[in-house]
Amino acid sequence: MSPTLTEKEPKTGNSIFESMMENEHEQVIICSDPSSGLKAIIAIHNTILGPSLGGVRMWPYESERAALKDVLRLSRGMTYKAAVAGLNLGGGKAVIIGDPKKDKKEAIFRAFGRYVEGLAGRYITAEDVGMSIRDMEWIRMETKYVTGISMALGGSGDPSPVTAMGVYMGIKATAKKVFGSDSLEKRKISIQGAGNVSTNLARYLHKEGAKLFVTDIDEEKVDNVVRETGAIAVDPESIYDLDVDIFSPNALGGVLNKDTIPRLKCAIVAGGANNQLEKESVHGPMLIERGIVYAPDYVINAGGLINVSNELEGYNREHAHEQAARIYDTMSRILEYSATHNVPTYTASNTIAEMRLKQIGRVKSIYASRSHFTGRMGELVGKR
Ligand code: NAD
Repeated sequence: MSPTLTEKEPKTGNSIFESMMENEHEQVIICSDPSSGLKAIIAIHNTILGPSLGGVRMWPYESERAALKDVLRLSRGMTYKAAVAGLNLGGGKAVIIGDPKKDKKEAIFRAFGRYVEGLAGRYITAEDVGMSIRDMEWIRMETKYVTGISMALGGSGDPSPVTAMGVYMGIKATAKKVFGSDSLEKRKISIQGAGNVSTNLARYLHKEGAKLFVTDIDEEKVDNVVRETGAIAVDPESIYDLDVDIFSPNALGGVLNKDTIPRLKCAIVAGGANNQLEKESVHGPMLIERGIVYAPDYVINAGGLINVSNELEGYNREHAHEQAARIYDTMSRILEYSATHNVPTYTASNTIAEMRLKQIGRVKSIYASRSHFTGRMGELVGKR
């Protein structure tokens, strides 16, 4: 395992094997079905902890290389996310090359489903960018290895309440480290986004007595959060300038960058949005220089993954919530490691994920050698 999530970005121009070896991907499946027009890539990064799980996204990639690069990067991210969350899942991801606005048809998704089925559970898929519940239902017609589908089809439905619970716990754990108390009463918290995760998060924060500020490009959504929680509405551009204790990004990726970081006046950034740091190696240190503690996004937004992983064992929402609440302990451990080893929080979380993979990997190899030994014993016993 290489040391950090972003250190070895797969380079375009390499051969497929070179790209796979760079970050130790186990398997890449190139799926081509000319009759439906399906062009897809499934990447399985690592299955030490369990079957690989990760969403399928549909995107009009500018080249096949760009699609490969994306799926390799995303599948690797899933390995770390599952490992640090303590799940027995590996990292996988899939991309369907196509424009979700005009290239969607049943035959494409059913063909994709057949590829997933053919992997016999080594890769389990879920909804991601560019996909809809309807598309996932078509995939489900061909394979049982689908999670996150509607409750009507035996799935767990909308994961955002569980994600929000995890984000809330991640915020509390970080507050405890930074302010000495995890109480959020009277804490000023700005929330970017008033969508599914944010709305549920705002409810938890309001219940605890936090003073909220909220923004979204959709005014109606902002109005709903304001009505329910008494939050103060702000316009999307001003959200970075507020004098708050905590900034919680729950809308888009890349919001922590060279333009926004100098404007932040918070002590903590902790939110559910994916890939908040535009470039981890550049903008992570910029946050540290400003004295801002960053709760790694993939650690505190793992509630969604925790939710779908529960489907594999027979879904129970209460159990999923309990498991998501443990993000408090995970985040506390990361902050502790970060302080003790004097490393950024995102390095601490990557290291903790890798430590788990190494531990289990070692157990696996001991087991493998033992079973080999037992086999030989069997031969010897048989000879007698
Ligand atoms: P959502 O679509 O319900 O909400 C996102 C909101 O962001 C929308 O209301 C949108 O209008 C708003 N938005 C877009 N551009 C904006 C801007 N410039 N300024 C302010 N608001 C803007 O999505 P969601 O399910 O709440 O997810 C939010 C984030 O969390 C995403 O990054 C998602 O990838 C991530 N995430 C979600 C889950 C989950 O369970 N839903 C799990 C893990 C990660």
